[in-house]
Amino acid sequence: MARIVMKFGGTSMAGTERIRRVAGIVKRQQEAGHEVAVVVSAMAGETDRLVNFCREANALYDPAEYDVVVASGEQVTSGLLALTLQAMGCKARSWLGWQLPVKTDDAHAKARIEDIDSDGLLASMGAGEIAVIPGFQGLSPHGRVTTLGRGGSDTSAVAVAAAVKADRCDIYTDVDGVYTTDPRIVAKARKLPLVTYEEMLELASVGSKVLQTRSVSLAMKEGVRVQVLSSFIDESAPPADDLPGTMIVSDEELEGSDMERQLITGIAADKNEAKVTLTRVPDRPGAVASIFAPLAEANINVDMIIQNVAKDKGETDVTFTVPQADLARALAMLEERKEAIGFFRLISDDHVTKISVVGVGMRSHAGVASTMFKTLADRGINIQAISTSEIKVSVLINADETELAVRVLHTAYGLDAAA
Ligand code: ADP
Ligand code: ASP
Ligand code: MG
Repeated sequence: MARIVMKFGGTSMAGTERIRRVAGIVKRQQEAGHEVAVVVSAMAGETDRLVNFCREANALYDPAEYDVVVASGEQVTSGLLALTLQAMGCKARSWLGWQLPVKTDDAHAKARIEDIDSDGLLASMGAGEIAVIPGFQGLSPHGRVTTLGRGGSDTSAVAVAAAVKADRCDIYTDVDGVYTTDPRIVAKARKLPLVTYEEMLELASVGSKVLQTRSVSLAMKEGVRVQVLSSFIDESAPPADDLPGTMIVSDEELEGSDMERQLITGIAADKNEAKVTLTRVPDRPGAVASIFAPLAEANINVDMIIQNVAKDKGETDVTFTVPQADLARALAMLEERKEAIGFFRLISDDHVTKISVVGVGMRSHAGVASTMFKTLADRGINIQAISTSEIKVSVLINADETELAVRVLHTAYGLDAAA
């Protein structure tokens, strides 16, 4: 017997018919003799709808009240799944974030989980009850509802798995695993049977939304075994233990497998960044700090940064990227400090995409970046900014060229599936 946490995303929970299918998958897992807890997302599109209501009500909304609104989507689906399981003859009950509780900090709209009290959960699971937990939501130290940031149900699932020391955390979604790139963009994308935590972390952080970044870092830290697989399966599908999904593994496990590794594991595209340029910034100590310190204080994440070589006049241009959602705030903040920073013009562009290639093989191989630059150049795609890490190279390009760039790079690194 194993203890398994199963997580179902928005598309899997979209409507009573889909929820019935999910209940069937959960029931079969329990009938196979496992102890099961289920973490669910809101129905597809529901969180977006709720976020829009908040914006309409008050453009500068209070994140604590935003959390009250957006956490409701998961409350609905967890209750519905418990009801559906009961209708199928299973013992099931829902555990809302405040009931477990899932204790978080008080950073509303992007709260971090600090602790999950698992006693009640374990007792209920031990008694043969299926625990259904709404993802995405938690409880602040002040007793208020919090949410974990978009895509946060993945993190809820991994945190529950760590708390109950689950043997596995199965993330059921609308694709049957992690691919070399988004299979909805590139038809030739290949499914990866194994990905290391580190690669998955990097892929998630550069825009492969199949797993929330924080869920991967938590799984890595807590040693949770995570598997990504499809909920779009029928009754005749093999049980989850035998389904061919993607397993997230440690470096050692990967080395122990006889799988032949490509130099590049995957390619991601992130359309949620915006580019900001400040022209003619004084070239003196402290100038760059005066730009980035206020952004950091406002919790705005700066990603790629370029500072041009100073010209004779002792001035330089500084370009960087911020999340599109924070662009308006960043621009307002910089404009306010125009004199203090001493720049000439503030220019922004949100029609950009960050394309990243990721792979642990990069550590021991040169030439990954130059292949990327040459491949893009051959197609006339202009690179606006570059950043690198040990296992990743990212470039910023015009958003219109996203699909073309991902496709040509996928081919250039030999990732295309055989026809
Ligand atoms: P859920 O609602 O189940 O949480 P998400 O929409 O958050 O699902 O994540 C699944 C989606 O992630 C897929 O539909 C796919 O379009 C996208 N995706 C992006 N990159 C990848 C990748 N490398 N492999 C698989 N899916 C990817
Ligand atoms: N419903 C939330 C969202 O759409 C959380 C999740 O689905 O993971 O972001
Ligand atoms: Mg998701």
